[in-house]
Amino acid sequence: MENRNLISGEWRGALDGSTFGVCDAATGREIARVPHCHEMEALEAVEGAANALGAWRSRSLEERAQFLRAIAAALRSHEDQFAHVITAENGKPLSEGRGEVAYSADYFSSAADEALQLHAINIRSRSELRVLRAHPEPIGVVAAITPWNFPLAMMARKTAPALAAGCTQVIKPAELTPLTALLFARVLADLGLPPGVVNVVTGDPAAIGQAWLDDGRVRKLSFTGSTRVGRLLMRGAAEQVVRLSLELGGHAPFIVLRDANVAAAVDAAVAGKFRAAGQTCVCPNRFLIADEIHDEFVERFVTAARLLPVGRGLDLATRVGPLISDEAVARMRRHIDDALAKGATLRTGGSTIAVEGCVDRFFAPTVVTEASSRMVCFQEETFGPLAPIARFHDESHAIQIANETPFGLAAYVFSEDSTRLAAVSEAVNCGIVGANTGIISDAYAPFGGRGWSGFGREGGRWGIEEYLSWKYVCTGVHG
Ligand code: NAD
Repeated sequence: MENRNLISGEWRGALDGSTFGVCDAATGREIARVPHCHEMEALEAVEGAANALGAWRSRSLEERAQFLRAIAAALRSHEDQFAHVITAENGKPLSEGRGEVAYSADYFSSAADEALQLHAINIRSRSELRVLRAHPEPIGVVAAITPWNFPLAMMARKTAPALAAGCTQVIKPAELTPLTALLFARVLADLGLPPGVVNVVTGDPAAIGQAWLDDGRVRKLSFTGSTRVGRLLMRGAAEQVVRLSLELGGHAPFIVLRDANVAAAVDAAVAGKFRAAGQTCVCPNRFLIADEIHDEFVERFVTAARLLPVGRGLDLATRVGPLISDEAVARMRRHIDDALAKGATLRTGGSTIAVEGCVDRFFAPTVVTEASSRMVCFQEETFGPLAPIARFHDESHAIQIANETPFGLAAYVFSEDSTRLAAVSEAVNCGIVGANTGIISDAYAPFGGRGWSGFGREGGRWGIEEYLSWKYVCTGVHG
């Protein structure tokens, strides 16, 4: 497997030859070493992207769309290989790894469709003495910094629209999951993507990120990750006035109204909460259940949570894999202990499960009831398989609790009454609503948050807009 970086079309190591280890998330054993790059390599990648920009942006829309379609097809045909790499370094079940590959390919298909729409637009002028036109131009060289929880999809969301818009790109994947990014780079190179159009650099996050923000040629940074790092990057982007898209942390409420289909809501809760062992930014983090159906929901949900097989991602029966780090396990424990100390009741889970030959990071799906806003789990993103449940008496109270947070990424609402479903969907303060569903991502829709969850959208035409700078040309008409 390719472990070197792709810079200006060349496979390279760090200038000083240093590397860092990548571990199997389930066993903790080192499976590869990749270059530990710093500022110099980061700037060489920018140089490569800057050199490639002129030719790439001059390609016809159809040519760019053809490349995007070819990338989508290549991802689909390499699904098995990608899924195994994702499962190895991230730990998620193989079926979820496969789902991530298909989802990533959709971003390239969607961007190919949208690329064909990038024409100049005539604007109606009130004056006959002027002709107005707006031209969609690529921003230029763009950077992407991505997290470990979706090693392929978070990159696909950034690379697909960037290439569609005519931008060239430098990417830094997360240190925990760089192998998927390097496989992606290999696939792009094998497809004949011109040198420098996409560059992948692994290594010191702060040094690479700051080098890109300070350089002046990087005109946009798209970041997915924690709110803490998002803030740092926002400060760093000020000097060169670098445009930003920030997809940050979430804290999604999951609201079930009294007239909901409880069985369907439970299915959605299980799928949304325990996918990726609760390590997605849109995982429900706070469950708000109407009094009338609370006990039935809890009983069904706890029964379903207990039945989820926990184990290695490579084991085909597994539904819940390991957490990514010891810190993630410690955070789960801290949130559970705090909730129990403040009056919550543990219904299932609460500790790790031993898996032979593996690290002690397999946390049992955990449900606590009698949760409240005083508890840390109702104030912070847990990013793990903990479902804290509170009951509510009236809808307005549920909406008030749901909106009691500076985060605003996703929310879920369940009701069989379409009017109430629509009203609560409108009242929750966030960027994405799952109405009677727990699975909301779609490559053709605008994904993104508000407040501390960031800004900017990924997917469909909204995703491409983030990589465009519209030029307005006003032409005078004489005589
Ligand atoms: P993180 O912020 O620690 O790391 C994300 C990326 O930032 C990694 O590539 C890391 O190397 C890099 N990084 C770290 N410090 C940096 C620095 N000083 N300068 C430049 N880059 C730096 O986040 P994480 O732990 O990898 O991911 C989990 C977080 O991501 C959660 O909060 C989750 O909600 C969020 N997330 C959000 C979305 C979304 O679409 N909103 C999607 C997935 C994950």
